[in-house]
Amino acid sequence: MHEVALSRQLARIVSRHAAGREVLEVELEVGHLRQVVPEALQFAWSAVRKNTLSGPAQLNITQIPAVIACRNCGARTQMGEVLDFCCAKCSSREVTTVSGEEFRVVSIEVTSERKQ
Ligand SMILES: [Zn+2]
Repeated sequence: MHEVALSRQLARIVSRHAAGREVLEVELEVGHLRQVVPEALQFAWSAVRKNTLSGPAQLNITQIPAVIACRNCGARTQMGEVLDFCCAKCSSREVTTVSGEEFRVVSIEVTSERKQ
């Protein structure tokens, strides 16, 4: 379950930003190619945040679809559930990944008061 490792990585980023303040909310973008199951990430996060952060630190996950661009015909293809690196227009496999590899913290909401 790599969601636990991702949660720890996320907690490190959030904790550095929070600098002792309570964390209210974390907005996260996760690309489809990361193969993250949102429910599993939420579950892992609930355990990890308890040990590393103060405040509710509610996690909001936005999933970014995986898109590839064809180097042969220039068409862009959005991948479905099955990850197939193949152009939908000309079936070429000469493709570049446009999006889907994100693991990005968009915003972190913290309280303005610093804890003593
Ligand atoms: Zn193509």
